[in-house]
Formats: sequence, C-alpha cells, structure tokens
Amino acid sequence: MSDGTARPLHVDVAVVGAGPAGATAAIAACAAGARVVVVDEADAAGGQIWRRPALPRPVPALDPRPDPRPDPGASTAGAAGAGPDRRRGDALREALASSGAVPLLGVRLWSVLAIGGRFRLDGVGGDGPVSIDAARLVVATGTSERVVPFAGWTTPGVVGLAATTILLKAFDTAPGRRTLVAGAGPLLAAVAAGIIAHGGTVAGIVDLNGRADWVRALPALARQPALALKGAGWLAAVRRAGVPVWHRHAVRRAHGGKVLEAVEVGPVDPGGRPCGPTRAIAVDALAIGNGLSPGTEITRLLRAEHTFDRARGGWHAVAGPSGATTIPGLYVAGDCAGVLGAEAAVRSGAAAGAAAAGGGHGGGGRGGGAGPRGRSVGAAMSRLTALRPAQVAAIADETVVCRCEDVTAGAIRTAVDAGAHDLNQMKHFNRCGMGPCQGRMCSDIAGEVMAIRLTGATDPATLDRARTRIGQLTGRVPLRPVPLGQIIGSFDYDDIPVPPPAPL
Ligand SMILES: Cc1cc2nc3c(=O)[nH]c(=O)nc-3n(C[C@H](O)[C@H](O)[C@H](O)COP(=O)(O)OP(=O)(O)OC[C@H]3O[C@@H](n4cnc5c(N)ncnc54)[C@H](O)[C@@H]3O)c2cc1C
Repeated sequence: MSDGTARPLHVDVAVVGAGPAGATAAIAACAAGARVVVVDEADAAGGQIWRRPALPRPVPALDPRPDPRPDPGASTAGAAGAGPDRRRGDALREALASSGAVPLLGVRLWSVLAIGGRFRLDGVGGDGPVSIDAARLVVATGTSERVVPFAGWTTPGVVGLAATTILLKAFDTAPGRRTLVAGAGPLLAAVAAGIIAHGGTVAGIVDLNGRADWVRALPALARQPALALKGAGWLAAVRRAGVPVWHRHAVRRAHGGKVLEAVEVGPVDPGGRPCGPTRAIAVDALAIGNGLSPGTEITRLLRAEHTFDRARGGWHAVAGPSGATTIPGLYVAGDCAGVLGAEAAVRSGAAAGAAAAGGGHGGGGRGGGAGPRGRSVGAAMSRLTALRPAQVAAIADETVVCRCEDVTAGAIRTAVDAGAHDLNQMKHFNRCGMGPCQGRMCSDIAGEVMAIRLTGATDPATLDRARTRIGQLTGRVPLRPVPLGQIIGSFDYDDIPVPPPAPL
C-alpha cells in the first residue's frame, strides 16, 4: 500500500488534459524549451474525439446473430471513431510521445492549488498518488455532456449522446439493439452513422433543430470542406439505412422500469417548447444529448474570472488570445474555454502551450486563440446545441434534475421562491450539485431553471443576465471522486501526535 505521500515532480508547465488542446499545448511548450508534464485520467492521449480504443478486441455483439460489424480499426467512412479520427489520434499520440513531455496518463487529478505563485497538482494513478509542482498551468479539460431532463431520463438504457461515442470508439459497441438518437447538433448524425456501422439499428433521429437552423449553419461549415465531407458521409449512411429524421422534435418521456421499452417524442416550437401530439417509438436504447458544457472545475477552484456565454456552452474562464486567464500563470485551451470544437482546440492548445512556456501573461480578455476559421465553424455548431430556455421551462416539477442527490426541478423552484437567488444558496437548500459529480451534469440546467423562475422570462438575453447574477457553483476539492485511502495512504494511530492534556 502507498504511504500516501508523493514527491512532487517539478516542471515549468503542467498541462491537464491530453485531448486535442492539451496534447498540442504540451507539444508546443516542449518545442519552446520548457520542462512539461501532461496529465490525463484516460490511459492514452486523444481526448474525446481522438480517443484510442480501450479494448484489444471488440466486445461480443449484444445480438447473438452473426456479427455484421466491420473489422475494428478499419476505415468505415462516417462511423464515429473510425477512419480519419483514428489517424488524427494516432498522429497526435506519436507527436506527444516524441515531444519530450512527461505523460502521466491514467491519473485522475483531484486537487489543484495556487501556492506562492506556483501550482501544486495532486492526483491518483494506478501506482498511487502523484504530485506536481509547476510554474505555469494549462487547463485543457474539455467538456461535460448536457442532457435536458425529461420524465424517465434516468431509466437504464438512456445514454448520453457523447457517452455513446465513447461506447463506439473505445468499446466498439452500440448502446442497444434498436436505438433512438435524439438531441441537438452534429453528434446526432455522427452517432447514428456510428451505430449503423457497428451493426445496430437506428429507429430514428429526433432533432431539436429545424432544417432552417441547419441551412443557417451551412456557410460556416463550407469553410471547412473536410468537416463538411465528414458530415455528408454521416448523413449518407443515415439515408442509406432508411432512418427517419424528425426535425424540431424532442423527447418527452422514456417508458420502462428496469430497462427502456419505448420513448415518446413530439414536436417543439423554434424555442424548444413542446407543442402538438406525441408518438411512441419502441426501442431498448436512447442516445440523447443537448450539447456540451465547458469543464470549469479547475478554473473555478483557482478563482479565475468566468463569463457566461450561451452560444459557447455556458460558463467558461475569461481568457486572452493566448489562453491567459485572470490568474497569473494559468492558461486555458480547447473546449473548456468555451465550446468551439476540435480544430479550434488544436489551435488554442498551440497558442496556450507556447505562451505558457514563455511565461507571458496576456491578461483576461476574450478569444482563446482559436483562429477565425475554427471559431466560425465551431461557433455555428455550438449555436445549434445552445441551451433552449423554453425546453428547460417545460421540465415538469417532479422530474429529477440532479440525479446524484435526487433533486427535482420542483425542489429547485421551491428554493428560489424561498429566497435562494444564487446557485450556491440553492445547493445549500436542497443539496443539488453536492453529489459525486459535483454538479458537472446538473448545474447548467439548475442555473437555467433558477433564472427562468426568478425572471419569469424565456428570452435568452434576459436569462443570460440572470445567469450571470446566479453564478456558478464554487469550485471545491475533490475535483473527481477518489478513494480516501489513496489520498491519505496508510498510517499508524500510534504515530499521531497527541498533545498532553491541558492542566486543570
Ligand atoms: C464524451 C464526448 C464525446 C465527443 N465525441 C465527439 C465526436 O465523436 N466527434 C466530434 O466531432 N466531437 C466530439 N466531441 C467534442 C470534441 O471532443 C471536442 O470538441 C474536442 O475533443 C475538444 O478537445 P479538448 O482537448 O478541448 O477536450 P477533450 O477532447 O474533451 O479532452 C479533455 C481531456 O481532459 C481530461 N480530463 C478532464 N478532467 C480531468 C481531470 N480532473 N484529471 C485528469 N484528466 C482530466 C479528459 O480525460 C480528456 O481526455 C465529444 C465530446 C465529448 C465530451
């Protein structure tokens, strides 16, 4: 057993996250001559989009019929996780391996402190505790998936859209035999095409956006032909498989007990408000996602200044063109600095890594070094997945919002009525966001429920001002759930110094 202590590794630059942004930042910082360590809880670099498959062989198909899936790793145009993404990931992993950066992979970071102008990072890996002392820190922790709650969303068989990409990429399997794909944004077509390529059946795509919303995004997409081609490939696969697509529709309810049996879907207006009759679709899996929220745990913990920007996923740290935050020596890169997608993440990682190696401090501003092209495509995609207030207003009182602590939308509204006007107050009233995920899954929706209750409005401009006042959950350790034994290690009670009793 570990003794709970880890001698800190001293470096110039520590990078948290080895996705497109973090790995690129580490490579750039090394190229500029810095001593660099890069930490990721995944056991290989690549992040979400360029994730390395975790299993040497595919897991058996759920269906006992002969396995219709292609060879793992073969390029199946359009399948999420195969082909070009695999190659980009392999190239990034090779570049990182030869960069000179020390990779600490499979390490879950649970604490980051700013002490005396330096950063102290603590994590837990397979070999026990890990400690890093760094002059500068690049945070590239990506995003969390957002699901707008509906009746039955916690039924087994309901899976996040982004989580489904992990099943497809890392475990080479589909979430069920017959899956409904629902939510908003480009992951809908990517996931549907991926499921089809893995031999699964897609019962339909339920898209919150209308055709007109997609047409508005086309000019931006046309500026990145490779991405446009990828999207066209996904859509072609969906069309070939005869998958019905319901635009401007959303999931109203999931039916089932121990397993998912059917999903009720119905039309919505342009704001996302349910309108019109529903239809039930028999499925054993629902892959659903309403966009991504920037991962701000570390920047909140370090008390950097943040801003609320609905079109870039919500709250994120304020940063200048090089990713410099309002805390000296602290940089952000990639989607955790506002969701803009993988290409923008690479560019912002390169800028942040180089700046961190040079030790420059650009001061707080906006931009994040994404580059105009990356920003325009990423911004167009982010707009498609921006949270729709009317959809959140329609969450029924009895629907659970915080699944870790079982807190319903009604309990959040009651807390607001009783005087909780910021997110932390509301958390104290009912424990929303206090569970193992520390609010990663629920705090964005909870903030929106509060803003709507406080203002009675559903227009984004009014709500954005209210969201700014409501704020974010205060960052706290542990950043990730870690076994207490691994943090404190083993000790002997006899070694604990006991002060002599005070004289009477
Ligand atoms: C689950 C998921 C699946 C996605 N799938 C696709 C897809 O199929 N196609 C697509 O175009 N886009 C996809 N996206 C969006 C795309 O991944 C991003 O735009 C892009 O990866 C952003 O790169 P990044 O480096 O900023 O973040 P990421 O790629 O998310 O990398 C962040 C890294 O930080 C690590 N990390 C976070 N916190 C900690 C911690 N406390 N300790 C240690 N490590 C930590 C994570 O393990 C992760 O590897 C997906 C996003 C998510 C969340």
